[in-house]
Formats: sequence, C-alpha cells, structure tokens
Amino acid sequence: MAHRVTLIAGDGIGPEVADAARAVVDATGVAIEWIEREAGAGAIARAGDPLPEDLLLSIRETRVALKGPITTPVGTGFTSVNVRLRRTLDLYASVRPVQTMPGVASKYADVDLVIIRENTEGLYSGLEHEVVPGVVETLKVFTEKGCTRIAEYAFMLARRDKRRKVSAAHKTSIMRMTDGLFLDCCRSVAARYPDVSYEEVVIDNLCMQLALDPAPFDVILLENLYGDIVSDLASGLVGGLGLVPGANIGTAAAVFEAVHGSAPDIAGKDLANPVALILSAALMLRHLGEGDAADRVVRAVVGVLSESRVRTRDLGGTAGTRAIRDAIVARVRGGAS
Ligand code: ATP
Repeated sequence: MAHRVTLIAGDGIGPEVADAARAVVDATGVAIEWIEREAGAGAIARAGDPLPEDLLLSIRETRVALKGPITTPVGTGFTSVNVRLRRTLDLYASVRPVQTMPGVASKYADVDLVIIRENTEGLYSGLEHEVVPGVVETLKVFTEKGCTRIAEYAFMLARRDKRRKVSAAHKTSIMRMTDGLFLDCCRSVAARYPDVSYEEVVIDNLCMQLALDPAPFDVILLENLYGDIVSDLASGLVGGLGLVPGANIGTAAAVFEAVHGSAPDIAGKDLANPVALILSAALMLRHLGEGDAADRVVRAVVGVLSESRVRTRDLGGTAGTRAIRDAIVARVRGGAS
C-alpha cells in the first residue's frame, strides 16, 4: 500500500526544491501518494489564509508532510506560518542532523551533530504587547511539560542512535526561572538515562566553542530561539544552509523541512540547492520505515557532491537546481550521473 504524504511546495525557492525532493523520492520506487496542498502567498490569494484549514486537515490525516519553506508576508497581520503550523499540530521536537558532506569544502571535517530544538514554547509564544508607548514586552513561556518532553525526546534519540552525549544550552545567570526550569527538567530526564552523558553549557559559550571546534559535541538540546540560531550556526560549519535537513516531530504528525527559508533573492532562477530538502525527504523515508530507500538517497547525494562534483552555486559550483535533481535521481535509479 502506498504511503500517503502531504506535499507543500511553499514560497520562494520552495517549488523548485520540493519538485527535486519529490522526484528523488519517486526514483526510489517507494510507493507514495502525494497529496499536494498550498500554503503561504498562494494560499492567501486563494483562501485568505497562509495556512488554510484543508492543509491542516490533510496533515492530520496523512500524519506525514514534506514541506518547502513558507514566507509570512510582513505587514499582513498574519503570525508566522511556520510557528503556527508547529504549534497547531504540536510538532514539539525539531531535529536537525548536521553532518559534513564528503566533497563539500567546510572549515571542519567529520562534523556530526544533532540539534534538538524545542518548537512550541519560549520566545516563540508570540505573546508581545505594548506596555505604554515606547515600551514593549515579549513573553518567554516555558512549561514543565514542554521542557520535560523535549528533554525526553533528546535522550531517547541519543540512546536509540547510540550517541554519547547530550549538551543542554542555557543562560540561567540571566533567565533564572525560565532557563532554570528547562535545566531542572533536563536533569530529571538525564537521571533516567545513565548510559548517555549529560552536560550543561551556557549558550554564548556554546556558540564560541562550536565555532572553535564542534568535535566535542554530539546531541545539542536547546529551547526554541537558541535552537533556531544554533541551527544556522551549525549549518555554517558544514557548508551552509543548502545542506541541512530537518524534521518536526509531534505525537500526531511529522513535518519534514529544510533549515533554510524561502531565499527570495534566488527564487525562480534555478539556483537553489535542493540537497537540504532532499535529505529531509530521506529523513521522512526513514520515518516511514523505508530505511533502505533513505540510505540510497543519502548515498546518491554524497555521490553527486563528491564523485560527480555536481554542485550549486552556494557550494562553489555552477550547476542549477534541475541539474542536481537529475544527477541525484540518476544515481538513485542506479544509473550514472
Ligand atoms: P527565514 O527568515 O525564513 O529563516 P532567511 O531570510 O533568514 O529566511 P533563508 O531564506 O534561509 O534566510 O536564506 C538566507 C540566504 O541563504 C538566502 O537569501 C540565500 O541566498 C541563501 N540560501 C538559503 N537557502 C539556500 C539554498 N537552498 N540554496 C542556495 N542558497 C540558499
């Protein structure tokens, strides 16, 4: 029976990279029934909402989505589509594996990190208001339940994937209560995982240490905003945003998407690197229980980047989005590229 997957092309470079990811998944031969749903700018024009109800219904039904980046137009009064999607579906765990790609020039060899970012709380609660003219306030909201379940997810993943350590980031010297609760919850969970090492790192120090040498880190556990920033920092360690995949996991659904945004500066020009979304699709295949197909996709990406040396401009090459797509598809099918 075919897996049913909601496909959201998104905005900017979204349709180009989503087309590539879909073609690569289809080349594996895994039967997927794609259910296409619109979000973002096109959905505002059609349904008056960048996150229409039919899209949410589809993901609730299929429980799995592959999603291109979506922009939230500034000044339209809509809250971030991505934040709304994650909160509405309670996709509480963002998982971003950051690994050196053979053949891609980067400052460090052998980077192998997993960034676990809490996706629903913290400063992304969207609770902002003006206290009096000239004074505004935003609320950083943490709950014991939210902190505990993200810590639980990080330790579960560390144990499952035989990783050695979880590093929790914080700034308790300034945010005694919020980051303090986060650490309390991490410690309680860590006590139940004696086989996984646990450490706490101040967020600013973590950034400095990652830039100096990422090797001592393994699984990095962060609240929402720290996780957003450190994900981009970590992407920079392995060659940029065009390479890093992501999964947003909840109890009722999982949405797979790249770390990068819609990159309007290069949209529609056949310049976008589709590798991040293709690797996100590989994570999706694994989630669907199609591990062999996922391995073939990853091997094809590595082969194209390292042996065939076909690369997009962000990686110093001259190939377009479609050329990368075709080269990866050919390798997945077992042909030369
Ligand atoms: P968001 O706010 O949605 O996270 P952003 O504006 O911070 O988005 P991105 O759109 O993620 O940032 O990307 C920043 C820049 O990095 C882009 O303008 C683009 O030049 C480059 N970039 C991002 N993704 C890719 C990609 N897949 N291929 C090539 N270049 C990319």
